Amino acid sequence: MMIVMREEATPPIGPRYKLASSQFRHGERTVIDIDGRKIGGPHFATIAGPCTVESRDVLLDAAHAVKDGGAQLLRGGAYKPRTSPYSFQGLGEEGLRLLAEAKQQTGMPIVTEVMDVRDLDAVLEVADVIQLGARNMQNYTLLTELGRAGRPVLIKRGLSATLEELLMAAEYVLKEGNTDVMLCERGIRTFESAYRFTLDLMAIGVLKELTHLPVLVDPSHAAGRRDLVPSLSLAAAAAGADGIIVEVHPDPDKAICDGPQQLYAGDFADYLRQVERVAEIAGKRVAAAV
Ligand code: PEP
Ligand code: MN
Repeated sequence: MMIVMREEATPPIGPRYKLASSQFRHGERTVIDIDGRKIGGPHFATIAGPCTVESRDVLLDAAHAVKDGGAQLLRGGAYKPRTSPYSFQGLGEEGLRLLAEAKQQTGMPIVTEVMDVRDLDAVLEVADVIQLGARNMQNYTLLTELGRAGRPVLIKRGLSATLEELLMAAEYVLKEGNTDVMLCERGIRTFESAYRFTLDLMAIGVLKELTHLPVLVDPSHAAGRRDLVPSLSLAAAAAGADGIIVEVHPDPDKAICDGPQQLYAGDFADYLRQVERVAEIAGKRVAAAV
């Protein structure tokens, strides 16, 4: 009778991601330069704007308000990942055209989401940063294409993704030679149902230990309600976030999507002043208003 010896499983050595690991850069942090706006390292950056591009007036009003309030980049989705297929899905290419106009008027770089690789070329016409939404964090073909697109990428943490899974998603982009990757904590699913998601503030410090990539926080989608957004933003800044991405609308009560969580554009400047004060206390450099 032959006795087959089972090989001992080799214990894993180090993290499964490599390029995303802090060890890879020997303690040096990635700083992404988007038209002179810096994200990562000593800098604190703010990305603000409406949830979705819903009309020319709303977008331009929001864009001017967030610029005047001190944001560095403008956000707005032309392609929206909606839970219901019957909800507004975004203006698509018309939305991209409006984002181009907002960029031309304000000079602000644009952050916008791509959901489908078939829209990537059109999105690349206007996006300075491509957003990969939480629901697509593990869309590996899309991640690979973003790695080849040669444009900075903002990866949002999946609704139930571990930090390692988030870093593995970043690894897909980095592996293709795109070094400009930033991560975003946007709230995760927990057993708690009293609010929309649970903002995982500990992810900030732990990610910054594990990776050299910038770590942003989205308080809007985490909370799902406006009243919690300022305090969560202050907490994120205090915890060492490299920036925030926050939803702002000139008239949120009439917004087509995510109305209850969007800040009033009129409140934005005061809000950001407070967040930046805390970021400075946490040791960050905030950009001078342009
Ligand atoms: C968004 O930022 O517009 C968005 C839909 O966020 P998330 O993918 O985090 O839900
Ligand atoms: Mn939204």
